[in-house]
Amino acid sequence: MVHCVSFLCSSLPFHSSPKLQSHYSTDHHSPASESLRIDLLHKFNSPFELKQVHAHIIKTNTHHSILPLTRVGFVCAFTSSFEYAHQIFEHVDKPEIFVWNSCLKELAQGDSPNDAILLFYQMIQYNICPDTFTCSFVLKACSQLLDLLHGRIVHGFIEKLGFQSNLFLQNTIVHLYASCGAMADARLLFDKMSQRDTVTWNIMITQLVKREDIEGAYALFSEMPERSVRSWTSMIAGFVQCGKPKEAVELFTEMEEAGLSPNEVTVVAVLAACADLGSLDLGRRIHEYSNISGFGRNTRICNTLIDMYIKCGCLEAASRVFGDMEERTIVSWSAMIQGLAMHGQAEEAMRLFDKMIRIGVKPNGVTFIGILHACSHMGLINQGRMFFSSMTRDYGIIPKIEHYGCMVDLFSRAGLLQEAYEFIMNMPIKPNGVVWGALLGGCRVHKNIELAEEAIKHLLELDPANDGYYVVLSNIYAEAKRWEDTARLRKLMRDRGVKKTPGWSSISVDGMVHEFVAGDETHPQAEEIFQMWEKLFGKMKLKGYVPNTSVVLLDVEESEKEKVLFRHSEKLALVFGLMKTPTGTPIRIMKNLRVCEDCHAALKLISEIVQREIVVRDRNRFHCFKDGSCSCGDYW
Ligand code: ZN
Ligand code: ZN
Repeated sequence: MVHCVSFLCSSLPFHSSPKLQSHYSTDHHSPASESLRIDLLHKFNSPFELKQVHAHIIKTNTHHSILPLTRVGFVCAFTSSFEYAHQIFEHVDKPEIFVWNSCLKELAQGDSPNDAILLFYQMIQYNICPDTFTCSFVLKACSQLLDLLHGRIVHGFIEKLGFQSNLFLQNTIVHLYASCGAMADARLLFDKMSQRDTVTWNIMITQLVKREDIEGAYALFSEMPERSVRSWTSMIAGFVQCGKPKEAVELFTEMEEAGLSPNEVTVVAVLAACADLGSLDLGRRIHEYSNISGFGRNTRICNTLIDMYIKCGCLEAASRVFGDMEERTIVSWSAMIQGLAMHGQAEEAMRLFDKMIRIGVKPNGVTFIGILHACSHMGLINQGRMFFSSMTRDYGIIPKIEHYGCMVDLFSRAGLLQEAYEFIMNMPIKPNGVVWGALLGGCRVHKNIELAEEAIKHLLELDPANDGYYVVLSNIYAEAKRWEDTARLRKLMRDRGVKKTPGWSSISVDGMVHEFVAGDETHPQAEEIFQMWEKLFGKMKLKGYVPNTSVVLLDVEESEKEKVLFRHSEKLALVFGLMKTPTGTPIRIMKNLRVCEDCHAALKLISEIVQREIVVRDRNRFHCFKDGSCSCGDYW
């Protein structure tokens, strides 16, 4: 244990802590003790020096309590002088265990939880009986180290010492087991506990959420006799984490109905749910609420607000939040740059990037994903190349698979398919589905069958059940009128049991999210929606709209294909939105897949006919349709 001595002497936790020094010198004001305090008292760093101080105390007949006791503890704790400290403590006013507990507390809460465990064993060895505080500090040290082995031993002591009825201690034990991943043990203890408080329940719920057992967490949450804001927040955040934003929002509504006020953490979680759902109304309300509650200036909340507004298609609102921020982090800058890129405002994204560099904020990998996206969405090849090389050269950022994906996307969209292919071949890391998918997308637009087949070969190895690739290749064959290949591909899909991912779109009206699945005729207002579509279709035809049935990959009659096309989920959601929202207001739709060519053309025309802005967030980006054109410049 020699290493501990040197460690402790060189970094005594309260070497320069004025708080502790004053604490130990309150009752002694005689000139003699005053000079002693100054000269010696706080300078001893070893048992040897302590002995000198001690001798002085005895000589001057000063009370032992003048010694900084915790320091005595630290200096002697891990040496053969433990017994010596023990003797000193017999002469002071406070019980010895107090001193050791404050040593333990500092070790457990500081950077040396290992030493807390060692000290605990020293105490046991010297027959110093631990109290509940001792146990709680050492359990905390075990939790911090995820050291279940020693945790179990301490738990054994607690049982032996008869502290089973101490709720605080029991909670600490449950927390230890749960945070070390021994959920079954934690649950056993939880079930056996004679009493529990909200903290007990919260520990279990938080840990289950952390381990992605959302059902288990929700089951406990439902049973909980009394829920705190923390309980609600853990559950809401848990739903967001595991991709269930709708459940998160529902729970939040319940929480409000129960009369509880959300805190900052709740606000961040609910805003994230709003972002996922594209639920702008609720997002706006939460924004107002955080302003009223005084945490609207919190950087983390502002960053989440930016993300929420961007994902809900409100770039201007995001810009306002960003502009009003007192302190911006790299997360704020990156979110804003990425947002501008997603909305097709590449130049603005680059302007912001320049500004960020000018004021000395260092970009990170995420910032570069944003800026490369901006380049690829607007076909800015040279700028993209420049940013990609600058990222490593000037900022020492090693490109990750996402950055390579952006570059392949950039080349592929611009029709530089051979360059894209060579870029993939020269990548120092293994290309993933996104990288090959980007090449395939380019091959579709620029009609390169050979490279498309090459991309598909890799994609089917990486992700054989994804229908999207087959659909794209089938489209490419169909467009090239290679019907035999199309048939072969369909057979392959059937043989492999690949099913088409159903497209769905959602639209939020009066705070309620309405979902539409492609081909859905079961909506309560389906009849009205179809009638309204027919009316619109009439006006669209006058403006030259011809349904592009080539996007329908079914072996059916042309009229049947049109019907399928007209039931695409974004069209259904749009018509519903036109029916349910006031004239002139923007319509915001979220879609799980890429918008097809036909819907894109239709939405452009409709934006002109109804004189409304239509914002569609698809899998990759935003389309803002206005006055007959789209912000993506038909490049998506
Ligand atoms: Zn469509
Ligand atoms: Zn577009």
